Amino acid sequence: MSIAEPPPATLRLRIDREALADNWRALARLSGKAKAGAAVKADAYGIGIDHAVPTLRNAGCEIFFVAHWGEVTALLPHVPAGQVAVLHGVGSAQEAQYARATGAIPVIDSLKQAALWQESGGGRCHLMVDTGINRLGIAPSEAGDPAVAALEVDVLMSHLASADEDVLLNALQLERFSEVAPLISHKALSLANSAGIALGSDYAFDLTRPGLALYGGIPRPELEGVIRQVAFPEAAVIQRRRISAGDSVGYNALFTATREMEVATVSIGYADGFLRSRGPGTMLHFEGHPLPVIGRVSMDMIVVDCSTCETLREGDFLAIPFALPQVSAASGLSQYELLTTLGSRFDRCT
Ligand SMILES: *Cc1c(COP(=O)(O)O)cnc(C)c1O
Repeated sequence: MSIAEPPPATLRLRIDREALADNWRALARLSGKAKAGAAVKADAYGIGIDHAVPTLRNAGCEIFFVAHWGEVTALLPHVPAGQVAVLHGVGSAQEAQYARATGAIPVIDSLKQAALWQESGGGRCHLMVDTGINRLGIAPSEAGDPAVAALEVDVLMSHLASADEDVLLNALQLERFSEVAPLISHKALSLANSAGIALGSDYAFDLTRPGLALYGGIPRPELEGVIRQVAFPEAAVIQRRRISAGDSVGYNALFTATREMEVATVSIGYADGFLRSRGPGTMLHFEGHPLPVIGRVSMDMIVVDCSTCETLREGDFLAIPFALPQVSAASGLSQYELLTTLGSRFDRCT
């Protein structure tokens, strides 16, 4: 028995693929002589691999970073496995075997991982050196270890902890990376994420690794006016209703009407990344009308005041604000969190 096609979604994420491609090209330009790769972990920061990866590939991107081995297969219809780098590296013989089976390239993150990779047969890999974030990577002092010398390192990389701030740690990490680079044989060097690209050409080396800014995030003021919004969430009105003075709305009755009003129940909630901290104060929009959110955000719904908008009908789609720097400032959520919590119920369309 075949299952019927589901009806159209009441929750859409419109992806501006042109803006995504333009953002990559802008970041590639800002990277100067360095090539730009792309971080596409966490389903391309919530944008969707099947939209992001072909767009970035067609724009000219040739190296794609994911975090988990489980993220590799989604990329393989779009790019050769040798262009996929797995940031968490090989933590077990099983992961090393999987790397070999798929052809995706591990980013080796410790001497133990280096040994595991060699034991599984070795070959091309990337290598992370920790220059101050203290998360993953070999220490600069381990550069001379025989396990490192045995590796066939393609990209030697490090990761900036505070590139979105003007702090001394940036220059310190740059210095440590520049000092360790000559000690390890490699084909290319890579340090900068999105914010690191905006720090200037000293940070670019041979390859940059933007993520956030590809998808419309603006981690530093230098990128304002350069980076365009990519993701545009829209949610449908499920029901329109009239309430009276004294009626309350939503869980815990946090909103009480002081007059008769018209409200609309909208098909988005915290399960779709519209977290409670984005509730009251946020305006949705319909044909130019601002519609304020009232009451508490539910898992699958929010309620807006539509008293001033007579033309709004059930089934109409409302624009959810998603200019990342502004929404981040208003909600206290990071631009990364706003993107990566979008969830799987959106119909991602162009
Ligand atoms: C996520 C990640 C990036 C991309 O960082 P953005 O700040 O999103 O540009 C680059 N490099 C590494 C190692 C990462 O983990």
